Amino acid sequence: MAEMTSELEALLMERSLTDPQLQAAATAAADFRILPEATVIKIGGQSVIDRGRAAVYPLVDEIVAARGAHKMLIGTGAGTRARHLYSIAASLKLPAGVLTQLGASVADQNAAMLGQLLAKHGVSAVGAAGLSAVPLYLAEVNAVVFSGMPPYALWTRVAADGVIPPYRTDAGCFLVAEQFGCKAMIFVKDENGLYTANPKTSTDATFIPKISVDEMKAQGLRDSILEFSMLDLLKEARHVRQVQVVNGLVSGNLTRALAGEHVGTIITAN
Ligand code: ADP
Ligand code: MG
Repeated sequence: MAEMTSELEALLMERSLTDPQLQAAATAAADFRILPEATVIKIGGQSVIDRGRAAVYPLVDEIVAARGAHKMLIGTGAGTRARHLYSIAASLKLPAGVLTQLGASVADQNAAMLGQLLAKHGVSAVGAAGLSAVPLYLAEVNAVVFSGMPPYALWTRVAADGVIPPYRTDAGCFLVAEQFGCKAMIFVKDENGLYTANPKTSTDATFIPKISVDEMKAQGLRDSILEFSMLDLLKEARHVRQVQVVNGLVSGNLTRALAGEHVGTIITAN
């Protein structure tokens, strides 16, 4: 190990940072999982929070109950209000970086509301999912709420087509799970998982219990239940090599997924 580090050190001093041998040496160094016991849960914006009390209260109950056995980082989606903002801002010809900030403000609103609902159970919403106080919250109360939009803001990557931010809350929550080396990533939405087509518009769509990113792409399902860009992040991830999509409108699903049960759809990196 020491030998490997000194080889890397020598390469770092001498080579370009994209040198293949340097990259290979950096990859060989052991990865450290910061929060290996925690699970990241994304609560959908459009699919869950926008449905209000009927969808949100039962999930709050499940989260509170699950806290006895699980450590959870709970990220929020943005949803309908963000889509409204995107349509106004896009018609005003504003750039993707501005739309990212607008979308983030809606995810923030959802995190603020979820945080208030969980407050009496000692669970707080944090301003950013940065490490600062997250480990302390997890150690003390096993849960924390964060706003799911990645903070790229004006530095958001510009998509080839259009001004809709390519990395939104699915990507933001996934990246938190990956960077912290978390145990699992669960997306809570309003369908049982991935189907062969959007079940809201296709009556003959069939359910897919398990699939890889490449298979999704091959079947033209790249832009479906999860953000397009998130699938590439999953493919290249080091720690989180699969994600699970569950229907949060069905009581007990989140709890079962947290326990490692195969409910919903599992999407694998390979
Ligand atoms: P979130 O609320 O987390 O942002 P979205 O509303 O963006 O979630 O994504 C979930 C929605 O994706 C579902 O409500 C469903 O209507 C839609 N969808 C599109 N294609 C598919 C598909 N092939 N399988 C399942 N759901 C799909
Ligand atoms: Mg979405």
